[in-house]
Amino acid sequence: MDLLLFGPPGAGKGTQAKLLVEALGVPQISTGDMMRAERSSGSELGQRFDAYMSKGALVPDAMVLELMEKRLRQDDASEGAIFDGYPRTVEQAEALHGLLGKLGRRIDRVVSIEVSLDVILDRVTGRRVCLDCGQTYHVRYSPPPESGVCAACGGSRIVQRKDDVEDVVRNRYEEYKAKTEPVLAYYQPRGVVVAVDGTGSLEEVSARIMAAIEGAAKGA
Ligand code: ADP
Ligand code: ADP
Ligand code: ZN
Repeated sequence: MDLLLFGPPGAGKGTQAKLLVEALGVPQISTGDMMRAERSSGSELGQRFDAYMSKGALVPDAMVLELMEKRLRQDDASEGAIFDGYPRTVEQAEALHGLLGKLGRRIDRVVSIEVSLDVILDRVTGRRVCLDCGQTYHVRYSPPPESGVCAACGGSRIVQRKDDVEDVVRNRYEEYKAKTEPVLAYYQPRGVVVAVDGTGSLEEVSARIMAAIEGAAKGA
């Protein structure tokens, strides 16, 4: 099963993707997480990513394609994947269509997680992330352990992303509106898009997403 979790920054894509990994038995592929890992390795490529990420601008499509070509060749993604935060442009969606096509696959379902700009700002500015495993917390809705030790991996580097401040979030939202939202129109004629309400508890949203992908799992 190839599932795409779609939505603005802070919609809950990463959080929901992690909840789905076990249920679906396929890995989460987050280009944002992959770019942050490259950046923290200190590589020259990571520095090139950072020039865009720190401003809230999208990384150019050619660089993203290179990253994805390598990722999809890894064994764990041979049966499918949960794509989170990718594709972010129509060009990326077309490139993904080509990559999956070569493997005899296609996107089975696009779950579009809908939240308002107010909710986005509240979620993103309160977000905290584990640098070691990518686990996400929120200062009010799912606070990191007081010990500072990550509940998911035992690491002790839970931080605020430097692009999770209001000014940069607003730029990211502008990029989303201009370049990413059209990706939905790319998938719409394929009959795979289902919209879900992204507000409410993690469990409520998760149940809505499970219901939305059930049809795809049955081949509908
Ligand atoms: P969020 O899901 O909160 O919007 P991400 O971790 O997905 O954040 O992305 C953080 C930043 O990484 C983006 O603002 C952008 O600079 C870059 N990025 C991540 N994925 C992509 C992508 N598929 N295409 C272009 N840029 C990307
Ligand atoms: P995205 O990957 O779409 O950018 P995240 O999954 O990282 O979004 O979620 C953004 C922030 O909102 C995180 O701090 C996360 O803990 C929090 N969050 C996610 N889903 C919910 C929810 N249903 N209710 C409250 N907070 C949420
Ligand atoms: Zn962790």
